[in-house]
Amino acid sequence: MVVIGGGVVGCSIAYQLARRGVRDVVVVERETVGSGTTSKAAGGVRAQFSTETEIRFSLESLRVLDTFRDEFGVDPGFRRIGYLFLVQDPADLRAFETRIALQRRLGADVRVITPKEAQAIVPALYVDDLIAAVWGPGDGVAGPAEVTAGFAGRARDLGVRILEEVEMTGIERGAGRVQGVLTSAGPIATPVVVNAAGPAAARVGRLAGLVLPVYPRRRHIFFTEPFPDVPGPVPITTDRASGFYFRKELEQLLLSPGDVEDVGEDLTAPVDWRRVEDVVTKAVHRLPLVERARIAGGWAGLRPLTPDDHAILGWAPGLVGFFLAVGWGGHGFQHAPTTGRLVAEWIVDGRPSMDLALFDPGRFGDGRVPLPGEAGARAPDAE
Ligand SMILES: Cc1cc2nc3c(=O)[nH]c(=O)nc-3n(C[C@H](O)[C@H](O)[C@H](O)COP(=O)(O)OP(=O)(O)OC[C@H]3O[C@@H](n4cnc5c(N)ncnc54)[C@H](O)[C@@H]3O)c2cc1C
Repeated sequence: MVVIGGGVVGCSIAYQLARRGVRDVVVVERETVGSGTTSKAAGGVRAQFSTETEIRFSLESLRVLDTFRDEFGVDPGFRRIGYLFLVQDPADLRAFETRIALQRRLGADVRVITPKEAQAIVPALYVDDLIAAVWGPGDGVAGPAEVTAGFAGRARDLGVRILEEVEMTGIERGAGRVQGVLTSAGPIATPVVVNAAGPAAARVGRLAGLVLPVYPRRRHIFFTEPFPDVPGPVPITTDRASGFYFRKELEQLLLSPGDVEDVGEDLTAPVDWRRVEDVVTKAVHRLPLVERARIAGGWAGLRPLTPDDHAILGWAPGLVGFFLAVGWGGHGFQHAPTTGRLVAEWIVDGRPSMDLALFDPGRFGDGRVPLPGEAGARAPDAE
């Protein structure tokens, strides 16, 4: 069995397959484990999603992170610092309230609080233009590198071969079935291939003759020099009106303008330093103290978006043996632990133990493939 991509999703799947007794798992990674878009993630994990399926994914991931060190021998750096959404628009608040009812029914602690209560959590916030905030104290943050290394390490212990600096270059197919993959290190015969190629998922799909609506879109995160004026811990705080979000990492502030941009790349994205002005303008409005901070650096990554912001998970229509675990947008890190378990169940047992219709690969139909945002209502874009 071959998994394309050694990001957090591919490594989680490989680990779970091996854990369920699959003995011949090979991960093909064109660079190194975790070096793809996983290395750009802010590390956020929140139960605050809009669908039952995604809320269940997050709640399971939060549980896995709680005991990660025991299972994987790696400290994932998990801290329940919470997620805070700052709301200005009454219609937005009503949409939050509908989602909160579902989240609470499923066991997540999420509440609407006043602007003043939000300011009690993050005293540096400017709150005079807010009508409310939404607070999820059980949400948190963990280290994408650490979690990916944990999955990869245990996968190797269980016999998974992870081939780094090996690129998948083609698919061998016959009679409508996968027969194997071609790689820069030679062919590998296999009846099952899992596409976990992150932002490059559509490119890998094309190698198999499939059109996948996965669109890599760039997002930046900048960081300040050590800035004790905003003491930690600070929750992942999103300004709904501007898309700006921030949190603290050690003594520094991480600041994202919440940008979404097609830069014509699907493997890596260059930093556009003109975005600094954008992030600073948004930050100074919400956190006036930031005027005194200095930006020390930043990075950009590609979020693999889909038309409805839900992942694409399941067997690919039209090619037997080709499994899709793609389109994770800004939440692939947090959903990877649950994804791995369910994909392994699906492949080994023939079906997953959770209803995954939300992620049905066939849901966009066979006609023109829609662009991001064209299908369905979108939930908060928080990472
Ligand atoms: C700025 C930013 C902030 C984010 N913040 C968060 C967050 O707070 N929480 C969260 O849950 N998510 C967040 N995300 C999203 C998250 O990073 C992704 O959804 C997740 O990392 C996807 O993991 P992956 O394993 O699918 O992709 P990747 O990590 O990109 O892994 C895919 C791998 O496939 C390899 N590959 C591609 N093509 C080939 C080929 N032909 N042959 C061999 N190998 C190949 C690549 O080298 C890559 O390593 C953020 C993303 C960005 C950009």
